[in-house]
Amino acid sequence: MDAVVARSRRFADAARDQMDRLDIAPTPENFTVWYHYHAGELPSLRRAMDILISNRQEFSPDVCADLYNRFFGLERQAVTLRQISTKIESAVSDAIGMLDSANQDARSYGEVLGETAAKLDGGASAALVREVVTRVIGETRSMIDRSDLLEKQLSQSTAEIGELRKMVESASREAMTDPLTGIGNRKMFDYQMKQSVQAAMEHGGELSLMMLDIDHFKRFNDSFGHQFGDMVLRLVARSLMEGVKATDHAVRYGGEEFAILLPETQVADALLVAEQLRSAVASKTLVKKGTKETLGNVTMSIGVSSYRLGEPVTVFIERADAALYKAKQSGRNRVLSENDLTQGDQVPGGSRPS
Ligand code: GH3
Ligand code: MG
Ligand code: MG
Repeated sequence: MDAVVARSRRFADAARDQMDRLDIAPTPENFTVWYHYHAGELPSLRRAMDILISNRQEFSPDVCADLYNRFFGLERQAVTLRQISTKIESAVSDAIGMLDSANQDARSYGEVLGETAAKLDGGASAALVREVVTRVIGETRSMIDRSDLLEKQLSQSTAEIGELRKMVESASREAMTDPLTGIGNRKMFDYQMKQSVQAAMEHGGELSLMMLDIDHFKRFNDSFGHQFGDMVLRLVARSLMEGVKATDHAVRYGGEEFAILLPETQVADALLVAEQLRSAVASKTLVKKGTKETLGNVTMSIGVSSYRLGEPVTVFIERADAALYKAKQSGRNRVLSENDLTQGDQVPGGSRPS
């Protein structure tokens, strides 16, 4: 047997056995998740599932759906986008077909009028004039009917294309949304960053950036389970959304890190907002559902930087990262800005803290 076939078969068998043991429904989505878990080529999937397994977490349909969406959602979006683009192609070619037939109708109507005019050339009897006029009226009526029909068909096509445009918009919104917290993801961050930098370059406004990282987040997972960790991520995301202006852009940058872009905001004002966010999150006490046991507080470290017109975006992010790193080093649960950095703190091109 081919080595590749043998390997895939091993992963497939292991996936099926484990799904049977854990009583997981053998749907294509669940199989995809467990196959890739055994194949091991997606370290983040492997890590997330190992945490669930080591916590003896039940793989309920919700947990399974969340895993699939989190790790394979993009593939699903690609399929949706392909379907939408096929539909758009067919709607557009229908509309072109209708315009072609309208063109032909107009041409043959013109020909009928031409022939009729020729008949009247050089004098005509009253009977012939009546016949000709009757024919012209008949042709005109049927031309009006055909135009009415065409108008209906075209407005139907326009409505279909409008629907498809909405589907494309919602698919791209979904692609830029983090499924766990419901706020923007890294893709959204890259998009907003490009827009905000361009606006700052064009209008000369101040643009600030906050990089936020939850302190000792691993401990939440280790002590109370991955699902509890997920709940903490949702809580932080909600606090950030509630704590910033509608014109600011808060996203989940990855893992337990968040980022906020604040257009038209000086670094001193961004620091005030960061401090408010830090204290709002730190003041919440986590309580276990049911037993009401107190589980502690969530704290965040935050680094703030300000965009220098013309600099590469990576350098702008690096300064916020360096400030965040320094905030971690100097005790966590605090906000620092690029102005707190000294020569030795900058790690240009160096690896970012996790
Ligand atoms: P520090 O204060 O230095 O930032 O420590 P930390 O524990 O927060 O940082 P570390 O990078 O060591 O750990 C981050 C953890 O976040 C490890 C990883 O398993 C967890 N994590 C990443 N994404 C998710 C997620 O989607 N859900 C949950 N529950 N945990 C996640
Ligand atoms: Mg952390
Ligand atoms: Mg981190």
